[in-house]
Amino acid sequence: MKEHLTVAKFGGTSVADAGQFRKIREIVAGDPGRRFIVVSAPGKRDPGDTKVTDLLIGACEKARKGEDFGKDLDRIRDRFQAILDGLGLEFPLQEEMELLAKSLREDPQMDYAASRGEYLTARIMAAYLGYTFVDPAWCICFDEAGQLDPLMTARTMRASLLPLDHAVIAGFYGADMAGKIHTFARGGSDITGSLAACAVGADLYENWTDVSGLYAADPRIVENPETVPFMSYRELRTLSYMGASVLHSDAVLSASEAEIPINIRNTNRPEDAGTMIVRHLPSGAAKNRVTGVSGRKGMSVLQIEKVMVSDGSGFSALMLDIFRERALPFEYCLTGIDSITLVIRQDLLDPCREDLLQEIRDKLHPDFIGLRDHLSLIAVTGERATESSDANVRVLEKLTEEGIEISTINQGAGKLNLLIGVPEEKYESAIRAIYDYRQGEIHRQAKQ
Ligand code: ASP
Repeated sequence: MKEHLTVAKFGGTSVADAGQFRKIREIVAGDPGRRFIVVSAPGKRDPGDTKVTDLLIGACEKARKGEDFGKDLDRIRDRFQAILDGLGLEFPLQEEMELLAKSLREDPQMDYAASRGEYLTARIMAAYLGYTFVDPAWCICFDEAGQLDPLMTARTMRASLLPLDHAVIAGFYGADMAGKIHTFARGGSDITGSLAACAVGADLYENWTDVSGLYAADPRIVENPETVPFMSYRELRTLSYMGASVLHSDAVLSASEAEIPINIRNTNRPEDAGTMIVRHLPSGAAKNRVTGVSGRKGMSVLQIEKVMVSDGSGFSALMLDIFRERALPFEYCLTGIDSITLVIRQDLLDPCREDLLQEIRDKLHPDFIGLRDHLSLIAVTGERATESSDANVRVLEKLTEEGIEISTINQGAGKLNLLIGVPEEKYESAIRAIYDYRQGEIHRQAKQ
C-alpha cells in the first residue's frame, strides 16, 4: 500500500520560540506521513513583538542608507540564540551572523537579507528534528526579473526532495540561475509549502498556524465565530479576496490545480481538526449552508443609464474598454436593459474620477450617470447555500428586517457567492445579521 505523504508548513507564530519548536516536534512525530516540513521565520511572540523578517528588512534598509545596523542584528541573533538555548542545540550562529553582517556591509540586497530568517529557522529545525536541510536556493527557481519559473521549480523540487526520507525546507525564497536570492511576497512561505506539496505529489498540504481553521466571519465583528470544517478552494478564494486572510492566494491556486487538499491547523491546539479545503465538499457537508461571510468597505458604485444598453450595439464593450485602457479594475459589472452598474474600489477611483466621468460622457453619451461612494461589498459564500434561491431570499429578508438598505445585489450563474452592497456604516451589522442567519440554519438543520 502507498504510504500517505504530507507536506506540513509552519508559520511565523508556530516557530516564534523554543516552546513552539517543541510543539512542532510532537506534531511531526504524531504522523509518519509528515516527511517534508516547510518553515517561516520566527514571528511575533506577543502583540508588541517584532517579526524576524521585519528586523532583517529594517537592518537592510539601514545598511543601504549607510547607517549602523548592529543593534538590529543583535536582536535577530538574540532571538535565534534564545531558541537554541531553549532547545539545548549547538549551531554555528555566530558564523552565520557574521556572514550576514558582511553581506549587508558590502552589498545590501533586500531579498537576500529578508530570506535569512527562514534560512536560519529551517537549518535549526532540521538539526532539531534530525531531518535534512533543503535550501530553496537550489530548487525554487526564479528568473532574473524575480518571477517564479513554475515548471523548472516543480522538476527541481521533485528531484531534490523525493530521494530524501525527511527534509526541512526554508519558506519564502528561491534563487535565479546566477544564484541571486529572490523572495515571494510577504506571507510567501505558504507558497513554498504549496509548491513542495505539488512537486512531491503529496496527499495533503497542512498549513499550521495559530488559529484552528478559517472563521465563518471576521472575529473582530462577530464574537467567537465558528470555524468552518470543510470549504472548497473556490469558496476560500472568494473569502480571502474579500479580506479573510489566513493563506496566501497563490498557494491556494497551485494546490487546487493539483487537487491537493489543504488542512489549516493550529500548532497550539493540535487536537482541533481545523479547516479542510478541498475541490468538492463531501456529500452532506454544509448542505444549504452559508460557508462564510466576508466583505470590504470603501466601494463606489457607478451607474450609467442609456436606453437599450443590452441591444448588442457594443455599449457595454466600449464602457469596459475605458476601464481596460486606464488599467482600472472593478469588483463586478452588471448590465441591465437600460443600465450598467460597476462596483469599484474608491481608493482606485479617487485619483481619476473626474477624468473618467468626462471620458464616459464624451465617448458614450449616456442618458444619466450616477456615482455613489462609501459602500461596502459583502460576499455571502457557500456553494451549497446559494444553489437554492431560498437561502438568498432569507439573507436579503434578514438584512431588510434589520433596516439595512441593500444598494446592489449580484449573483452570477456560478452560484458561489451572493454579493451585496450595503452602506459602509451598516457593514458590521450586516455581517452579524448574515452570520446569525447562518447559525440559525445550522441549528434548524441539526434538529431535523
Ligand atoms: N517571513 C515572511 C513574512 O513575514 C514570510 C512568511 O512568513 O510566510 O512575510
